[in-house]
Amino acid sequence: MKLIPFILVGFLFSISVQAQLPNVFYQSLVDQVSYTEVEENLTELAGFGEKTLGSAAEENALNWMKDLYQSWGYTDIELHEVNAYGQSGYNLIVTKTGTLYPDTYIIVDGHYDTVNGPGANDNGSGTAVILETARILKDISTEYSIKFIHFTAEEWGLFGSYQYVEDIVIPQNLDIRLVFNIDQVGGVAGQINDTITCEQDESSPHHNNSESAAYTNDLMNYMETYGGLFTDLSYAYGSDYVPFQEEGFVITGIYEYNVSPYPHTPQDTLENLDFEFIHKVAKGTLGAVCHFAQATETMGIHEIDSSKIKIFPNPADRFIQVNTQGNEIQNVQLMDLSGRILLEEKFQQNDFQINTSGLADGIYILKISNGNSVSNQKIIVQHK
Ligand SMILES: [Zn+2]
Repeated sequence: MKLIPFILVGFLFSISVQAQLPNVFYQSLVDQVSYTEVEENLTELAGFGEKTLGSAAEENALNWMKDLYQSWGYTDIELHEVNAYGQSGYNLIVTKTGTLYPDTYIIVDGHYDTVNGPGANDNGSGTAVILETARILKDISTEYSIKFIHFTAEEWGLFGSYQYVEDIVIPQNLDIRLVFNIDQVGGVAGQINDTITCEQDESSPHHNNSESAAYTNDLMNYMETYGGLFTDLSYAYGSDYVPFQEEGFVITGIYEYNVSPYPHTPQDTLENLDFEFIHKVAKGTLGAVCHFAQATETMGIHEIDSSKIKIFPNPADRFIQVNTQGNEIQNVQLMDLSGRILLEEKFQQNDFQINTSGLADGIYILKISNGNSVSNQKIIVQHK
């Protein structure tokens, strides 16, 4: 929950954007967002009780989320220790590797700690939305890597996100394309919850503000197109995107438009939420993340396990090295984006090079066929 400076409330305004046509593939994923799954996960989260930093409830919630990600098949799962006021707990970071830009990240984050109550809305709702997004995207290729991050100690002053930026983002010089923060999207039972507030960066430093405005404008379109919600534009403040924003990263976020009176009280419970609204928010969020991370439809009927095929360097200059780790390769084709075959070769060994020195800078498709299986991989040629 965020304390709204009262003087600014009057400046919130609604804009209505013409909903765009959905991407057919993204819509097919959005259709998989499950009301039941979101409801069950949110019920589980609220059931742990008050999840303050260092509490048993916080640790139980952490372990439960970790197990859930593992049950879906995620393997890159990290815990990052957070310390504040003599207590310690963990941020949970789950990474999904991108196909084209593995070292560039979309961060989808929200806090899971709570204060003075079970935090069904603040921020069980956002946590459940992130979980559902991760569940559906598990086996979907995305060009950019995604980090799903569940921060702790937000309620005590954004300690989890501040320490993550300080301990990891800056020392490791992480290349972050966008931080998408989800905090308190539960709606208010008994009210008409048909609008989501999308938040753009209006704070100093200002060099990242215009990019934030562009992403937030896109976010509003996706929330309308895939979530079926109206949108409201506001400014970002008081949640876990702030430490990233202060370091110059590009941020956006969502927050409920009908602001619940219950967060930070024992009444922040399931019965005070609007599950229909959360379901719509989850759909809009998934559609947005598909666009931000560039989810791609796999093209083959029988797909070779792409994670077993290593292609490097990518972007390539004079050659690309391909390692198929045991797949028997029969035919390799390099095509431009219109499908024109520029090069065709047969290889018996699973380790081979393709000469790219004669190709113009651009994006190409490398098609590797093996009997009835096929893998299409995007490669970039960029001459130095
Ligand atoms: Zn919150």
